[in-house]
Amino acid sequence: MVSDVLKSFDPDIAAVVENEYTRQTDKLEMIASENIVSPQVMEVAGSVLTNKYAEGYPKRRYYGGCKFVDVAEDLARDRAMELFDAKWANVQPHSGSQANMGTYLALLDPFSENGKKIPIMGLHLNHGGHLTHGSSVNFSGRLYDVHAYTLDESTGRINMDDVAKMAREIKPRIIVTGASAYPRFWDFERFREIADEVGAWLVADIAHFAGMVAVKKHPTPLPYAHVVTTTTHKTLRGPRGGMIMSNFEAGEILLEGMPKAKTVTEAIDSVVFPGIQGGPLMHIIAAKAVAFKEALQPEFASYIDRVLENAQVLAEELMKRDFKLVSDGTDNHLMLVDLSTKGLTGKESEKALERSGITTNKNMVPGDKKSPFVTSGIRIGTPALTTRGMGTDEMRMIADWIDRALKDVEDKDLHGGIRAEVKEMAQNFPHFKW
Ligand SMILES: *Cc1c(COP(=O)(O)O)cnc(C)c1O
Repeated sequence: MVSDVLKSFDPDIAAVVENEYTRQTDKLEMIASENIVSPQVMEVAGSVLTNKYAEGYPKRRYYGGCKFVDVAEDLARDRAMELFDAKWANVQPHSGSQANMGTYLALLDPFSENGKKIPIMGLHLNHGGHLTHGSSVNFSGRLYDVHAYTLDESTGRINMDDVAKMAREIKPRIIVTGASAYPRFWDFERFREIADEVGAWLVADIAHFAGMVAVKKHPTPLPYAHVVTTTTHKTLRGPRGGMIMSNFEAGEILLEGMPKAKTVTEAIDSVVFPGIQGGPLMHIIAAKAVAFKEALQPEFASYIDRVLENAQVLAEELMKRDFKLVSDGTDNHLMLVDLSTKGLTGKESEKALERSGITTNKNMVPGDKKSPFVTSGIRIGTPALTTRGMGTDEMRMIADWIDRALKDVEDKDLHGGIRAEVKEMAQNFPHFKW
């Protein structure tokens, strides 16, 4: 895992890498936003391309020597467009957050109304939305006048009539869809109708479920959303990074109020660079190209099928053991367990599971009475374990372990026993498996 040179030069960091590798292999990584990249993606991400400055875009760079990295960025863009059936893509955002920032700032100049904040709508952070969808501690909540829509607490789902009613009242200029902790499909078509009715841009942030969209196992937003943003490292299983796509040909939409750029896609390009970023991470962009090529293979489609099958089985097995899931199930790779019915908090459950070798994260549930530091839920996802080759038999074992571990969240001996069983099972599954 680590070279002898690194081990002798910097034993502290060498140990971090080796310990982390061991953690990833002998525990069960069930954080829904995480995955394991292929050795090929890692090889390119750790390559000499990290040395190159390439500010600008292919064939329009501010630096010499970009002949080869231009090939990488063109391939990444072409493959992204093929994968998602998009007409335009920008693969430079360093992260999902920067993909969103680039998009919002291009669509809606927050300083254009003399200090008056412009309204936008996004799913509330406590109901599964992301920080960048309008949280008050994030740039999105500070620059815009955010109105958060929420889940219907009785169904755990988004009620589209409520969204429409709110949009008519608020008249947002951007409606953000997509989430970090929502287990159900999104009705992008209906969102677009609402956006059109109130004159808003529709942004779809598919960071979590991009892998499913790529293989058509989740409705695609591309025919409906003006702009689609994503991360590349969650279900898409690429290197850590972001991407922005659109189905509007350059020149198709004229953007009012943008001083120089004329179209949405030109505006986004110029906000991403030079607006909010400097030099692109060419090693990561090249690794994105490799990951997109992987995602275009039939093996990736069957990987996503197994992610979904595993999530279905895990959800059913947990419900059989009297766990309450938000919305009573899942359409995607993740589920939200509402532990309030068992008298448990997310915080103590996350800890008990961690001691048992199962890594999850505490998460707010709709109508949560607890603070975000405590919460009443945990979020569980299947992408990383499925990459390791685990299937439905392992999901049944995991449901059992979760049930046992949470029978007594204080019992460290109980958790130590489960930890040993988890380790034994986990070691049969390599780190990455096609
Ligand atoms: C993970 C996530 C992001 C942000 O990605 P980072 O790369 O962590 O900045 C944005 N939106 C949603 C919905 C996410 O789940």
